[in-house]
Amino acid sequence: LIVLEGVNKYFGPLHVLQDVSLSVDRGEVVVVIGPSGSGKSTLCRAINRLEPINSGTITFDGQALPAEGKALAKLRSEVGMVFQSFNLFAHKTILQNVMLGPVKVRGEKVAVVRERAMSLLDRVGIASQADKFPAQLSGGQQQRVAIARALAMQPKALLFDEPTSALDPEMVGEVLDVMTALAREGMTMVVVTHEMGFARHAANRVVFMADGQLVESAPPVEFFENPKSERARDFLSKIL
Ligand code: ATP
Ligand code: MG
Repeated sequence: LIVLEGVNKYFGPLHVLQDVSLSVDRGEVVVVIGPSGSGKSTLCRAINRLEPINSGTITFDGQALPAEGKALAKLRSEVGMVFQSFNLFAHKTILQNVMLGPVKVRGEKVAVVRERAMSLLDRVGIASQADKFPAQLSGGQQQRVAIARALAMQPKALLFDEPTSALDPEMVGEVLDVMTALAREGMTMVVVTHEMGFARHAANRVVFMADGQLVESAPPVEFFENPKSERARDFLSKIL
């Protein structure tokens, strides 16, 4: 579904993605790990073209990523993204936040979207908070709203960039539970996270990045039990 081939990205002199090739199949859950500054966020952002690349190709569902216009808006609606900071609209209710994209961006009927939004809020366990404002919810609840909002666009894939890093520890589980359920239901997901429990239990594949390079890619059991590179061994020894 998502194919990167020989992708290079520079920020000035900094070579942040170095000849990165990765393909993510439909229904696959790929967890991306690696040290700070290794290019994980840039990789995610490149996939829905929040970040243009300098060379190489990225295709989504068989099509090269569009650079602008309607085609780009369509890509962004098909590849949802969930960030560390939930980025909800503070002056809109939870329900309005979830409805906004489908109604404003896609012009879908309000009644249809409302029903879908309520069922998504129910699925992430916050239907009872629909009329509250983001500030009235906990961090974990807000992040679950952000996931519902991404799902409201009926995406073909979801990208998560450290979705639990900003949360108090007691709220991490509730967000990971929602993500695990999505993974089991067959959602295609690319997840940057330091939650190794999630990687072990929900990922089909773990990708290890260091210094802009994709160093290893292996099923979780294989990666955690027998990392091939010195850099991955070193990284794991620090975080496990
Ligand atoms: P972290 O674990 O800290 O989130 P990361 O693996 O997500 O790190 P990136 O955010 O992708 O890393 O950054 C990769 C490199 O690119 C870093 O050296 C970072 O400083 C640099 N970088 C990222 N965004 C920009 C930008 N907009 N302008 C210049 N340099 C940037
Ligand atoms: Mg990052």
